[in-house]
Amino acid sequence: MSINFLFLGRRSLIVFLFTSIMRFALKPIEVFASSEDSIDEWNLSNDQWKKKLSPEAYSVLRKEGTERPFSNSLNNEKREGVFHCAGCDFPLFTSKTKFDSGTGWPSFWDHLPGSIETKLDFKLIVPRTEYHCARCLGHQGHVFNDGPAPTGKRFCNNGVALIFRPGSV
Ligand SMILES: [Zn+2]
Repeated sequence: MSINFLFLGRRSLIVFLFTSIMRFALKPIEVFASSEDSIDEWNLSNDQWKKKLSPEAYSVLRKEGTERPFSNSLNNEKREGVFHCAGCDFPLFTSKTKFDSGTGWPSFWDHLPGSIETKLDFKLIVPRTEYHCARCLGHQGHVFNDGPAPTGKRFCNNGVALIFRPGSV
C-alpha cells in the first residue's frame, strides 16, 4: 500500500515537473502569438473599418479622400498635446511641430519617429507624396516641400483622420 502510494506520488511529481517545464517552454510561443494578434488587429476588412469609423473618417482613412478645407476644428487647435491616428490611436504628431499653413488643414513640419510611411500617388496627375499611419495604414494626407524650417516639409493632414489628446509634450 505504502509503496503504491509512493509510486503515485513520484508519478504526480514527474507530471508536475513536466507540465511546469512545458509551460515555461511554451511561454515564448504564447507571447509571439499575441504579438501576431496585435498586427492582425489593424488588418481589417472594409466592412469592419466602416463599422469602426465615422463616414467622414472612413472616406479619408480607408478611401484616401480629402476633407473640405477649414471644415475640421483641429485646424485651429493650438493647445499642447499629441495628435493620434483616428483609425488606431497611434501617436503621429505633436503640437511642437504644428504650424498655421493658411491652407485650412492641420499642418505639421515633422512627425513622430516611425509613425508614418509614404508612397507616391498620381490622383492629380502631378505626382504627390501620400502618407499614412505606419500601424493601420490609414491615409492621413500629403507631404509637400514648402514647409517652414527646420525641415522645409509641410505635412498637410486631414483633421478627421486625427484625434487630439491634450497634455504636455
Ligand atoms: Zn493608424
